[in-house]
Amino acid sequence: MLVETPQHPPEVYAQIREMAADFARDQILPHAEKIDRDESFPEDIFKQMAQLGLFGVTIPEEYGGGGVDCYAYAIVMEALARGYSSVADQCGLVELVATLIHQFGTDQQKARWLSSVTGFERKVAYCLTEAEAGSDLSSIRTTAVRQSSGWRLNGSKLWINNAPLADIGIVLARTDPEKGHRGMSVFVVDLHADGVSRGPREHKMGQRGSQVGPLFFDDVQLPGEALLGEQDRGFYMIMSVLEKGRVGIGALATGIAQAGLEAARDYAKTRKQFGRPIADFQGIQWMLAQMSMEIAAARALVQRAALLIDNGKSATEASSMAKCFASDMAVRQTAEAVQIFGGSGYIKGYEVERLYRDAKITQIYEGTNQIQRTIIARQLLK
Ligand SMILES: Cc1cc2nc3c(=O)[nH]c(=O)nc-3n(C[C@H](O)[C@H](O)[C@H](O)COP(=O)(O)OP(=O)(O)OC[C@H]3O[C@@H](n4cnc5c(N)ncnc54)[C@H](O)[C@@H]3O)c2cc1C
Repeated sequence: MLVETPQHPPEVYAQIREMAADFARDQILPHAEKIDRDESFPEDIFKQMAQLGLFGVTIPEEYGGGGVDCYAYAIVMEALARGYSSVADQCGLVELVATLIHQFGTDQQKARWLSSVTGFERKVAYCLTEAEAGSDLSSIRTTAVRQSSGWRLNGSKLWINNAPLADIGIVLARTDPEKGHRGMSVFVVDLHADGVSRGPREHKMGQRGSQVGPLFFDDVQLPGEALLGEQDRGFYMIMSVLEKGRVGIGALATGIAQAGLEAARDYAKTRKQFGRPIADFQGIQWMLAQMSMEIAAARALVQRAALLIDNGKSATEASSMAKCFASDMAVRQTAEAVQIFGGSGYIKGYEVERLYRDAKITQIYEGTNQIQRTIIARQLLK
């Protein structure tokens, strides 16, 4: 297997890892249980992250980003998820939106939106999914119709992260209904505009610090400059940034599993049965060893995909492998962490109970793992 190398010296990544890990340990983890219980939005944590440059890791510094690369982004996502995955998820959302605007926006659009997005002054939403269009994005029904001065947007989006509180949304809409996925475009939509409304937020199994809900667009008038990139190329634009998105979710899932391993290891060393710590039993030792191996394998797949992106290579297959393997692994290994805790692991208030719930969604969003396997198989068979 070809091994790509990182762009920066090791000390650059070590510094980023330490900063993100310290922040996760001191400022995120102590609040995770309460955020999960209350389903609250940790705005204070996000403001601190913006000050530390933890939003827009791959975006140039002139636009308020970290000016680093996807390898560093993966490091940050894993470290933040070790604290709480809903916080890492916000980091991933900002990265996706900022990447799209940076990659496809005009100078004017970048100047208008980017710094406020990476500075967390504007909260963002990434609006693809609809009631009849989840895995099959080519069947979206939201339309944007050209007018003399701009566009008229109609439709609705479902399960959109940040929908209850976002200021701007990246919206995928049909601009040429005859042309299927070749007739879709991306718009940056002011979510406070007339005609935009929000439905009630959903109550979720896990990652309860992220607020998800529907958005409705009823004859929303968009200015001409709301169109991002080339008209009718929106589907391809969305697909191209999803590679980075999948690296991010793979790293996030790895962070959840790492948290599970550390909690299970510490518990196994202190919990006594049959007169000795359960960590003395080979059955428990082998469970911990398996967790550690699988986490290392997931991290390696995530890093490989990130390095391919940073070196300008195709990462379609690698990013799907990273996302799919790491998220399946996180669900499997957080279940093992619960098992090592015995009955305590099933009780609210124990970290592993939350981690198990938080891990599940990583198999579903950013493209389900069935879709990732389809992408991998397509690459194999072409
Ligand atoms: C908490 C949460 C946050 C989300 N955040 C966002 C967001 O911010 N923005 C956004 O746009 N969307 C978001 N989503 C939506 C998410 O991306 C979709 O739920 C996901 O893509 C799957 O779509 P679906 O739920 O409609 O499932 P479906 O596509 O209906 O799939 C149902 C099942 O069928 C399987 N399946 C479908 N097609 C195939 C196939 N061809 N081969 C094999 N199996 C298949 C799927 O893998 C799945 O198991 C979020 C969802 C949740 C729950």
